[in-house]
Amino acid sequence: MIVRDAFYIDGRWVPPSGSGTQEVVNPATEQPLGRVPLGDAADADAAVRAARAAFPAWSRTAPAERGALLAKVAAGLKARQQEIGELIAREVGMPLKLAVRIQAGNPIASFEACAAIAAEGFADEVVGHSRVAYLPVGVVAAITPWNYPLHQIAAKVAAALAAGCTVVLKPSEVAPLNAFVLAEVMDEAGVPPGVFNLVTGLGPVVGEALAAHPAVDAVSFTGSTRAGKRVAALAAETVKRVSLELGGKSASVILPEAAADDALLAQAVKGSVGACLLNSGQTCSALTRLLVPAARHDEAAALAVAAAQAYAPGDPFAETTRLGPLVTRAQRERVRDFIRQGVAEGATLLTGGPEAPEGLESGWYVRPTVFGDVRPTMTIAREEIFGPVLAIMPYRDEAEALQLANDTAYGLGGAVWCPDGDKALAFARQMRTGQVDINGAFFNFQAPFGGFKQSGYGRELGRHGVMEFLEPQSVQLKG
Ligand code: NAD
Repeated sequence: MIVRDAFYIDGRWVPPSGSGTQEVVNPATEQPLGRVPLGDAADADAAVRAARAAFPAWSRTAPAERGALLAKVAAGLKARQQEIGELIAREVGMPLKLAVRIQAGNPIASFEACAAIAAEGFADEVVGHSRVAYLPVGVVAAITPWNYPLHQIAAKVAAALAAGCTVVLKPSEVAPLNAFVLAEVMDEAGVPPGVFNLVTGLGPVVGEALAAHPAVDAVSFTGSTRAGKRVAALAAETVKRVSLELGGKSASVILPEAAADDALLAQAVKGSVGACLLNSGQTCSALTRLLVPAARHDEAAALAVAAAQAYAPGDPFAETTRLGPLVTRAQRERVRDFIRQGVAEGATLLTGGPEAPEGLESGWYVRPTVFGDVRPTMTIAREEIFGPVLAIMPYRDEAEALQLANDTAYGLGGAVWCPDGDKALAFARQMRTGQVDINGAFFNFQAPFGGFKQSGYGRELGRHGVMEFLEPQSVQLKG
């Protein structure tokens, strides 16, 4: 058991004001893994006060100094990469090798990138007779989810610190243990007291206290659309800056030219299935709808089944496992209900299903599931499932492909497959989503990440991510 019994506030480990605790459970074993304190409004207030007090000095540090400190944090995370990967594999259930590379590796990349951006600084702009400076917005509340817990934390915290803001972090109550490791790393790196503060607790308690707190200047939220709307409504009372990174229902579009070529079709289907099943489908930008020309539906379906069946669910710590459990029992039940609904609404269940996978005595596993002949009105085509479930949707022509791709309340990710790069780019430009990957291109840590429509607003990562925490100030000079 990993027991944490204090919050990190003002550079010290501080006991919580109340006595509530939250158990953290390993989704592969269903056994308790750790315990953290459940904070309340008084704890949130203490953290905000510390961040407020630290803001004037931190906001005035030289860019080089901020950059050097963030680089030290990156190095501290790197030294503990294996440990962090193992911890998150236990908290979230992602297979160990992937967890070390992605869950523990991404935060290092974020802090390194923000160290460089901080060191570079944001020069004043000259606009006519004005000098426009970029000033840190102030105290930032960061509220984060469980699926890539430390990546989502780093995307906010590293950027806010790079901008010269101070931070109060409230991580997910489902996977909070990794955040305590970050606090230790911050402390060892010498981040000044109050610049980074950590309070764990429930969303409706600590999260809402932060979103409503008059001394918080900006809230950066990643999580469900439901909670994001609540945070934005609370923050509106004090007119805070808000950025929301929410859910998705992203489409992978195999254009006719790619579908006509057997090798390209196989590559596109395999890549899409991999991007759907990563982290057991618990990825906000997962490619969960595969759009294929109707004439090639059956070939694509056969390829998707073969690709999905290669992801046998199993112990995240076994060498060959590519698919771990879902994070909680509730999440597993939700996903199984979606699968049952897909069957009930007439989609063709090609592989997988709602039954527990064979041979796994414990753990919240779901079979990798592929549906074919999915129509746009079906629930599995519209709702974010957040599980290992792919919906294959046939289209007649490119116009219909585009219409289907954009026929969603969300607008987070997407993919286009086409041997003609210009054509793929032209199609991508018409997709109403924050990012589009062409022909399986990799994730880019320097490029802005965020959503259109109900996937949220604001951007994270790279220079755009830091700019979220800067306010332009125009100073007019008399010539
Ligand atoms: P969630 O909304 O339940 O929780 C996210 C965070 O918000 C947690 O820290 C939680 O405690 C807090 N929270 C919950 N209710 C709150 C409230 N009323 N006020 C303030 N804070 C509150 O989401 P989750 O289940 O942890 O994560 C899954 C969701 O997150 C999915 O919908 C997924 O698509 C989305 N997500 C989006 C991105 C992105 O970048 N767009 C990334 C990861 C996850």
